[in-house]
Amino acid sequence: MTMYQHAMKTAARGPQAFCEWCGHTALEASLHQIVVADSSYVDPTDFTRDGRRRTHACCTEHASRLMDYGTRTWNDEQFWHAKLRRATRHCPQAVPTRTPEQLASQAGLTAEQLARALRWKDQLHGPHYHRPVHHLSTGR
Ligand SMILES: [Zn+2]
Repeated sequence: MTMYQHAMKTAARGPQAFCEWCGHTALEASLHQIVVADSSYVDPTDFTRDGRRRTHACCTEHASRLMDYGTRTWNDEQFWHAKLRRATRHCPQAVPTRTPEQLASQAGLTAEQLARALRWKDQLHGPHYHRPVHHLSTGR
């Protein structure tokens, strides 16, 4: 089979996807589509999907393990930091001109949540990680 024929055959059957737990690849339609808790995930446009990421699993057992894992590893500070990153993504150079209250409000956080998110990031990367501020908008 040529590459072209293979591509045509694959396209006719539908898109492929993989189980996030074991890596098994299959037709997307034959996998379980699930939503898992993920404190590092914020939706670029739909804020109601924040912290809830769509993924695939090959079977109900792996679906259940993925959902358990997301719930067990949930971290509020990581979630708030992801919201802050999204809020400052388009204009990180403006961050130093904002007060903490303005930043928190822009990200949809309380001042306490903002402070905890920044402390959490400091503990991961050292006290000056978020200065210069362009680091706020990098990474996932
Ligand atoms: Zn699997």
